[in-house]
Amino acid sequence: MAYSYEAPVSQSLFDRASVVTPGGVNSPVRAFRAVGGTPRFMVSGTGPYLTDADGREYVDLVCSWGPMILGHSHPEVIAAVQEAVARGTSFGTPGEGEVALAEEIVARIEPVEQVRLVSSGTEATMSAIRLARGFTGRAKVVKFAGCYHGHVDALLAAAGSGLATFGLPDTPGVTGATAGDTVVLPYNDLDAVRAAFAAHPGEIACVITEASPGNMGVVPPAHGFNAGLKELCAADGALYISDEVMTGFRTSKAGWYGVDGVRPDLMTFGKVMGGGFPAAAFGGRADVMAHLAPAGPVYQAGTLSGNPVATAAGLAQLRLLDDAAYAKIDAVSAELRTLVGDALTKEGVAHTVSSASNMFSVFFTDRPVRNYEDAKQQEAFRFTAFFHAMLEQGVYLPPSAFESWFVSTAHDERAIERVAAALPAAARAASEATA
Ligand code: PLP
Repeated sequence: MAYSYEAPVSQSLFDRASVVTPGGVNSPVRAFRAVGGTPRFMVSGTGPYLTDADGREYVDLVCSWGPMILGHSHPEVIAAVQEAVARGTSFGTPGEGEVALAEEIVARIEPVEQVRLVSSGTEATMSAIRLARGFTGRAKVVKFAGCYHGHVDALLAAAGSGLATFGLPDTPGVTGATAGDTVVLPYNDLDAVRAAFAAHPGEIACVITEASPGNMGVVPPAHGFNAGLKELCAADGALYISDEVMTGFRTSKAGWYGVDGVRPDLMTFGKVMGGGFPAAAFGGRADVMAHLAPAGPVYQAGTLSGNPVATAAGLAQLRLLDDAAYAKIDAVSAELRTLVGDALTKEGVAHTVSSASNMFSVFFTDRPVRNYEDAKQQEAFRFTAFFHAMLEQGVYLPPSAFESWFVSTAHDERAIERVAAALPAAARAASEATA
């Protein structure tokens, strides 16, 4: 596919990057492999806008893959960071900021009685799995195809977006022994979960699920699915782990728990709670968390865990996320969903705008999408054309058909109008695209 626009500075940065970094990027989906073309190297962000190295401005509908829920460079978050930085950047000791952030999380999310701070969502899920295994004395982990929980060895099986994008069935480097304890089931299929418990009674340490998946595109849990998981886990003595790295503090004040009220044993968080810095967490039942070192025997640690700058940013961001902020984000999301759906309908493009609270994505199919297999049936080549037409007109979408779009409180009428103005041509490009 030829693109009618160029990004010479990004291209030269990408050329340099490709010499010193595998594939030119530090996280695969940034490389535009699914859609082709030159990844944009961004130099600054303000509110709902990003500016690339060529000086082009974009309405940002990725928001750093979720964290920038107040938009870029929010003055109060920046001020909190500056104030923290001025006091020093890392002490390797406990500090008040991490206590305050933990208190904020515990206050917002009722099932979290205790929480441990880490530096990435991957670390959070990896540690939660280890804790579940240590607590139960069991080895097996159930996960769902299309759910991504970070690049944890045991969870890199049928893991959604990045892997969906690259069509890798699995990844070299994960041993059979590691993957052998992972049971991968179709999402939204409680019968499959029942059958797994029947096949492995007393062997399953935990079921881990995205609270509402956003890594195969947005595929919300069917009514009663999460409650069913919780029930099946409780009946067998396994732990129910809800991965809220993406949904946490985004889909409501209390994340997806605030939407469905199903009480997990353990939960994982990241993205929004770091305010754009590397901060993440896992937490839950106090009796389970008590098994974590130094209180208990399950080891877990981190040089930069609870970093004072990251916790200051996260805390400032969370404190700004009140009911009015969520109402704003929900309204922006609803408006954009309508605009996108209308534009595609007008051009006769088969599509489904799928949403979970304010997270949404577009599947280029009009058949229902309930799991990863359904998601893969979409005409992803139409997304490629749609994506590039939007990019050319200054709208930055996730560069994959299997990713959630994210909005922020900073997406104002002007930003929405710019998206609206770009949609007709993008919908036309999607309708004219060929496989
Ligand atoms: N869990 C979920 C649901 C995610 O969406 C992600 C990242 O996208 C992760 C875990 C991993 O988080 P991180 O990229 O911070 O390691």
